[in-house]
Amino acid sequence: MHIQTAAVQTLRHHEHGAVVPPVHLASTFELDPGSEDGSYAYQRGANPTRAQLETVLATLDGADHGFAFASGMAATAAALSTLEVGDEVILPASVYGGTYRFVDLVLPGRGVTGRFVDDLGALTDADFTPATRAIFMETPANPTLRITDLRRLTELAHRHGAIVIVDNTFMTPVLQRPLELGADVVVQSATKYLAGHSDLLAGAITTNDESLAEAFALAQKAQGGVLSPGDSFRLIQGIKTLPLRLERQQANAVAIVDHLRGHDDIAQVWYPGSHSEDEARIHAGQATGTGAVLSFELVPELDRVAFLRALRYPGYAVSLGGVESLICRPATMTHEAMTPQAREKAGISDELLRLSVGIEDITDLLSDLDQALAEAG
Ligand SMILES: *Cc1c(COP(=O)(O)O)cnc(C)c1O
Repeated sequence: MHIQTAAVQTLRHHEHGAVVPPVHLASTFELDPGSEDGSYAYQRGANPTRAQLETVLATLDGADHGFAFASGMAATAAALSTLEVGDEVILPASVYGGTYRFVDLVLPGRGVTGRFVDDLGALTDADFTPATRAIFMETPANPTLRITDLRRLTELAHRHGAIVIVDNTFMTPVLQRPLELGADVVVQSATKYLAGHSDLLAGAITTNDESLAEAFALAQKAQGGVLSPGDSFRLIQGIKTLPLRLERQQANAVAIVDHLRGHDDIAQVWYPGSHSEDEARIHAGQATGTGAVLSFELVPELDRVAFLRALRYPGYAVSLGGVESLICRPATMTHEAMTPQAREKAGISDELLRLSVGIEDITDLLSDLDQALAEAG
């Protein structure tokens, strides 16, 4: 089944011939006093609507198990909750800011070390110690859109008994399925492309590993950061148009990259594969598209603030993946938790702008960018 068909058809048959699943709001479920062993007992442990969503999440990733959380960070925290005292996780220094915060401020208190490295792609056998239990990665990276070779890294990690957790928020299962490339766990902020309308916070985990699946089910039950039935239903709804939305968003992004690349007012444009032929080849070998997030810098003569104020359509806001275009300045917004030196090392200049391209008509988006550039000159 192709992914757009799976997104629409996975949950199509229900009681009374209903073509969409019912929403079960119950916080508790009656049990048989003779056995006390029902599939559903209390909403935090499991509920039928969240279970429906979790089936869709697993199906899209080709996974045996799916888990829905109340936010991307709740999912990330659950994914990292398998680490124990003395363990170490390796992450890129440019990892998502919330993940950086969790690893930097929360994990040390649990006796778990986060080791941040500048270039995951440069990891070798010598970087692993017996304490290295996991690698947490994003490809493409945010907001540089640098690419890491997923197959190489999973082979390397597995040789040393470490698991690989991939934050696949930027690509979604439509464009990249890390489990099929050897990764052990995929986390996503479903707040972004999966939900798609900037009106819902949610997170997802998928895996094929039975013991990790047990740990994630325990994280749901024991830590309690689960997605509500109402939001589960809205996410099921959002996912139905995910492939369709992303196709349009990606086509718009490609057109914007083409337009900006030759533009006199633009100093540089980054998108997955833009940094080198090597990265382009690796990305093409592990993903089926470049997605709909790009970064660019204006030439120094232009006034960034005037440009941003003059834009009519992309809103100046963090987040990404919604139907509406959004633009942000990573140095002061998404990546302000990094030190200026760390940002410079990661290639995140003060002038870099990140654009999440929406589904608007491309003619309007291009003319809006042009008029704002003219305004900033
Ligand atoms: C937004 C985001 C997260 C965190 O997700 P929330 O739903 O905001 O908690 C994690 N990783 C990436 C790459 C993100 O963009």
